[in-house]
Amino acid sequence: MNSVSPEEFNRRCNRLYRQLRMAKGAAPSATSIGPKFIRPVEKIIHQIPAIDCRAGCSYCCNLRVVAFSFEIIAIYFYLVNSLTKSELEECKIRVRRQCEKIRHMTVSEHFATNITCPLLVGGECSVYPVRPLSCAGYHSASVDACRNSDENPELTGFESGGIPMFQEVNDAQSTQDAVAVEVLSKTRDDPHKYELIRSLWKIMENPKLIQRWKSGRAIFKKA
Ligand code: SF4
Repeated sequence: MNSVSPEEFNRRCNRLYRQLRMAKGAAPSATSIGPKFIRPVEKIIHQIPAIDCRAGCSYCCNLRVVAFSFEIIAIYFYLVNSLTKSELEECKIRVRRQCEKIRHMTVSEHFATNITCPLLVGGECSVYPVRPLSCAGYHSASVDACRNSDENPELTGFESGGIPMFQEVNDAQSTQDAVAVEVLSKTRDDPHKYELIRSLWKIMENPKLIQRWKSGRAIFKKA
């Protein structure tokens, strides 16, 4: 559901359009898209004291994450620019290891299995400023519900009782999703979301794929 006025929606579309154009010219600048893109969602989350999410709590980082291509490319450059050579190699090993675990899983098998995100380091997100919108908008009103879901990953949301969430946060997230789809569709870019671990590994293995993204072609596989 769109939670902003048409004027505000257009303003956000224009900003994302400008940032994407810049990133198409100089791909490392993709890292500057994320903070502004997720800010409206973070703002709403900070206004709701009943949200139980705290630094160091990372149950949700065992869940399957999807992201737009520009978000995955931003994460790649954030890692390349912020890690030392050996830290980056360690990161690649973690990504490859988790990628191997999910390689033959179906989407529902992945949903039903705890696979820790390889970007989680010391209990914290190592790419926090550029984490995908799906991560930024994920929230819970009950850490007990998250713990229960983490301990019983095979149960569907309905069977486990689900995670209590706030409609206004979900609406803010949907609005940002709609902003991205609007801009990517109009510019004939790839408007789909992709599973994070596999897609990130694909770029780490072959960074030349970023050239393909710059020309507007899809570089990841839906799975
Ligand atoms: S990207 Fe960050 S917030 Fe998202 S699942 Fe990975 S570690 Fe957690």
